[in-house]
Amino acid sequence: MRKILWLTTVAGLALLTQGARDSATAQTRTTLDIYVIDVEGGNATLLVAPSGESLLIDTGNVAPDAAIRDSERIIAAAKDARLTGIDNLIITHWHGDHYGGLVELAKRIPIRHFIDHGPNVQPAPAVDEFLAKVYPQLYANAKHTIAKPGDRIAVAGLDVEVVTSAGETIKTALPGAGAPNPYCAGFKPGPSNAEDPMSVGIYVTFGKFRTIHLGDLTKNKEFELMCPNNRIGAIDLFLGLHHGQNTSNSEVMIHATHPRVGIMNNGTRKGGEPDTMQVLHTSPGLEDLWQMHFSQLSGQEYTVPGMFIANLLDEPSAAMPVAPIAAPQPGPNVPSPPAHNGPAYWIKVTAQSDGTFTVINTRNGFSKTYAPNVGSN
Ligand SMILES: [Zn+2]
Repeated sequence: MRKILWLTTVAGLALLTQGARDSATAQTRTTLDIYVIDVEGGNATLLVAPSGESLLIDTGNVAPDAAIRDSERIIAAAKDARLTGIDNLIITHWHGDHYGGLVELAKRIPIRHFIDHGPNVQPAPAVDEFLAKVYPQLYANAKHTIAKPGDRIAVAGLDVEVVTSAGETIKTALPGAGAPNPYCAGFKPGPSNAEDPMSVGIYVTFGKFRTIHLGDLTKNKEFELMCPNNRIGAIDLFLGLHHGQNTSNSEVMIHATHPRVGIMNNGTRKGGEPDTMQVLHTSPGLEDLWQMHFSQLSGQEYTVPGMFIANLLDEPSAAMPVAPIAAPQPGPNVPSPPAHNGPAYWIKVTAQSDGTFTVINTRNGFSKTYAPNVGSN
């Protein structure tokens, strides 16, 4: 028994030492760095505070090859950020495009704190088996938290507040927010599966810079969060956007939060449908939309210019058709979306505490700096 206790203490010390080393290498940092990693229409978004402490939101796709590919892509971003561990990991919800790379990632880098919304609520035997047998082993020597709206996730230098989790939303407005939301009157409910609305959503403040990531939170939950009063207020950067899918991204959420920049974690044939793009392109105050991928679902008609798009296809296409290409009907013989397993590029955001932020497309080197907002937006 004594031996076991001793070993636990040593392991604990090792973790502490590692944390200290991360913060030591981080002494020179002054910016919040955000890596939106290409996981092919899944999600993996890494935030690194000036303190060197990190928060990863989701781990990319399931299935053996995709999990290895996506975990390697996350590791490449973690290396670029000089991390030796992931201090906090949020799994927004139990879908394969969000928790899928977790086992492979945990083999490659220590994860110190696991955060989720609680049990899976959508029938899926593989997920239930993972949660019963594998997940507890992953967090056995770490911290595990079931997030509740209003909780704070400790990341030194940032203020990270949970605004949605397990189908619940914050009930009171964030400081400075709470005005009536004019978009509520025109809201139309949307369809939903069981897990997307359970997503852990966070609101992050770094000095004057504000960003939000809501996992795959669906339209009906956007309405609960944002109506009748806008509990979030205005933000600078909207991360994720549920892959650009039209089961999320209602005006009550997008237009009311008035983001200056959006970064969409879409895939080659996932997200970027005309109706979503219409909402985004008409969002008041939106200066630019950046995308992880060209999406066939947008066509030239709805897509953003290529300089804002981080990833291409393995087989280069001669031209993007003007009209959107509709997704094939689901069924047994659906052709796979265009593949992208070759070199992958992240979009990196560096934010300063005065509210200035720069977005960089690492595929083509194109970058743009957004000056701090004067007054309210
Ligand atoms: Zn998803």
